[in-house]
Amino acid sequence: MTISRKGFLKVLGFGILATHAPRSWAAAEKIEKSGAGKLRIKDVELYAFDIPLTEPFRVSLGVFTAANDVLVRVVTDSGLVGLGESSPFLPITGDTQDTNLMVARSIREMIKGKNPLAVDALIAEIGHIIYSNPSIVAAFDMALMDILGKAAGLPIFRLLGGDKETFESDVTIGMDTPEKMAASAGGHVARGYKNIKLKVGLDPDLDAERVQAVREAVGKDVSLRIDANQGWTVPQAIYALRKMERFNVQFAEQPVVAWDFAGLKAVRNESPVPICADEALFLPQDAMKLIKAEACDYFNIKLMKAGGITNSVRIAHLADAANMRCMVGCMLETRLGLTAGAHVVASQRNITFADLDAYTFHTIDPIVGGMMVNQAGKITLPELPGLGVDVDPMFLKKLKRI
Ligand SMILES: [Mg+2]
Repeated sequence: MTISRKGFLKVLGFGILATHAPRSWAAAEKIEKSGAGKLRIKDVELYAFDIPLTEPFRVSLGVFTAANDVLVRVVTDSGLVGLGESSPFLPITGDTQDTNLMVARSIREMIKGKNPLAVDALIAEIGHIIYSNPSIVAAFDMALMDILGKAAGLPIFRLLGGDKETFESDVTIGMDTPEKMAASAGGHVARGYKNIKLKVGLDPDLDAERVQAVREAVGKDVSLRIDANQGWTVPQAIYALRKMERFNVQFAEQPVVAWDFAGLKAVRNESPVPICADEALFLPQDAMKLIKAEACDYFNIKLMKAGGITNSVRIAHLADAANMRCMVGCMLETRLGLTAGAHVVASQRNITFADLDAYTFHTIDPIVGGMMVNQAGKITLPELPGLGVDVDPMFLKKLKRI
């Protein structure tokens, strides 16, 4: 029995995608006839958009009230379109929506007329931009990977050889009083979450009280991760983590300032809790240095730091060679950017932790298709070519093209 592409998508419940799919499928057939090597980037559409958060999100670096992101649509001469999103997070990535847009205009001129399937070469060409604006490079990389997947007729995670279409994400609780964090954690666990991440990092004693309150609220079977976001000194981190040992903390993210690899190693040497590098790790070369320094147990890979899917996979490969496991985390992406992160998780065996929950803080979800998430944080990727995601046409219509 054969089933049409449109019928297949409708069976899966992707109404809006189903109406787009025949065009995309026709575009893929056109590539087949003309040759993949002849495919060209015709245009790049850029849009800025802001999504207010449901409530202020507090971490040791500050308080955040909105996602200020950039949407990238890479249009090819065959009709295939790739989607990408940047979610710059100034205190960590050092870039902003404004700088992303400025740089994106230059990238647009650099890649116009080139073959979008040559992702490796294009990312190498715009590579130096990663040092100042990693988030916008991530948006371009995921758009190019989206086109690659669509041209191949495969979801990105399958194109990369993965088979983990379903996995669990944790949920993050912003810094608050121990009582409020415990109540929030209890609610998530009641809905079915098995992994909770707590923001800490201002006062080691109060942080230990936060972890204790949450542990008592959720019981012993829930895994608890903490994230200090660089908030402690080396002695504070060692003190806090020793104090937290009895609450069975799975790992601690970035206890000390990002650039202090020696300090991170000193904490790792003295801490009973495993250490996960986050802000210390942007690019594959950082991963290499952290591995050589034996400074951490795990990596928290984020597409916005690494400059996209390509470099995230490279980091996972380096970690694999060092017998290390990884997490994929996020900034404040919508389900577009998060779906790209989910493809990275699904593609690599040694990515065993996921923290892809940013959409839960957003007041609206402007994305159709993409990763599906149940109320317990179980993520499932669609069996659709590329990212398998689209922007709600009504939302896109309201945005001003830049
Ligand atoms: Mg972190």
